[in-house]
Amino acid sequence: MMHCTMDDLLALVAGEGSAWARQHAAACAACGAELEALYQRVAQLKALPARRSARDRWPAVRDGVGVSRVSPRRRRSPDSSCSDRSGRSRWTRPSSRV
Ligand SMILES: [Zn+2]
Repeated sequence: MMHCTMDDLLALVAGEGSAWARQHAAACAACGAELEALYQRVAQLKALPARRSARDRWPAVRDGVGVSRVSPRRRRSPDSSCSDRSGRSRWTRPSSRV
């Protein structure tokens, strides 16, 4: 017999489960117990108080890991990125089309 996957059970907890999964969880002791445990876990998580940092902890974290500054990325030469093979800028339009 095929049992519900964890994805099936999580979908049921979210109210989005398939009809097959819902019927199976109601008929199968193992999947029913697993589904009930998931419902209880979700309820426990929702009951947790919201925890927020009292203030910005980034300075303390930064000092703790020893990061001083993000190194700048290397830039390519402007000659290779802005000019075509003739050496003329790609962004210059021919004057005859104005
Ligand atoms: Zn089952």
